[in-house]
Amino acid sequence: MAATHTIGIDLGGTNIKGGVCDADLRLVAQHAIPTEAERGVEHVLTRMAGLVDELRRRANLRRDEIAGVGVGAPGPMSHAEGIIHSAPNLPGWVKVPLRDRLTRLTTMTVVLENDANAAAFGEYAAGAGQGVRDMVMLTLGTGIGGGIVLDGKLWRGRFDNAGEIGHMVIVPDGRPCPCGQRGCLERYASANAVAERLREAVQAGESSVLQALVTAGTPFDARDVVAALERGDRLAARIWDETCAYLALSVVNIQHLLNPELVVFAGGLINAGARLLDPIGRHFERLSWKIAPDAPRIAFATLGTDAGTIGAAALARGG
Ligand SMILES: [Zn+2]
Repeated sequence: MAATHTIGIDLGGTNIKGGVCDADLRLVAQHAIPTEAERGVEHVLTRMAGLVDELRRRANLRRDEIAGVGVGAPGPMSHAEGIIHSAPNLPGWVKVPLRDRLTRLTTMTVVLENDANAAAFGEYAAGAGQGVRDMVMLTLGTGIGGGIVLDGKLWRGRFDNAGEIGHMVIVPDGRPCPCGQRGCLERYASANAVAERLREAVQAGESSVLQALVTAGTPFDARDVVAALERGDRLAARIWDETCAYLALSVVNIQHLLNPELVVFAGGLINAGARLLDPIGRHFERLSWKIAPDAPRIAFATLGTDAGTIGAAALARGG
């Protein structure tokens, strides 16, 4: 029997997630293990190889039925060389030749991809982007990850850093970003930034139902901001509306740069549902040009946290 299945691995700082996909990119087996990153690079690589074996067993497949392994990992990295240059959440990971090391440990073909790219490719191949050729995805989580699919292929750029949409400058001389720039999109519209902006506004003297949490130094997140606006909190409503406007502005810029058919939003923030999608649509309508009918459709991701593993498995087929 020919190799019909591929394995996708999503390497994170806390967990390594894996899945086996069939020819139609349906997950037929899944498993996750703690990364144990503190025990060093070699330990994590050995655990990844062990996970590949475990997944194959769970899917009840022979080795020759697995066409390859795709790994989505935090960057920066070189896809062509299969090397992770550095990974902020993985201590000691500097210039790790992950692809070649894992190829040796598993004796399977391995491809390495940026985790945000892998998730975007997963949505393109098996989720919200099915049937579309040109798609851009923004994942609104701790930061903002991005991925670009053009004519059915991931667009990586000359330096493998294309799709860093979270670091598009959206406010000149705006909020400082750990990347060294100011005014990056993720400093305004990531799940973390939404809560942070509300906290700062309260500290600057504005009133909110979340005031007690701010004063006590209690952590809260974007979900609390949405809950506050649903209770009629005016500050939460303003911060949220500004967030949606920033996201709409980024869609306008993406529209003119790439003219994609679809812009997909993913990540924790999309749990807000219509509270997020409707105002983004309204602001997009207000901000975008009217001289050509080339507005992208704006939609939510459908694969949830499986997008990374499914995308990595799809890329292992040669995406
Ligand atoms: Zn930045």
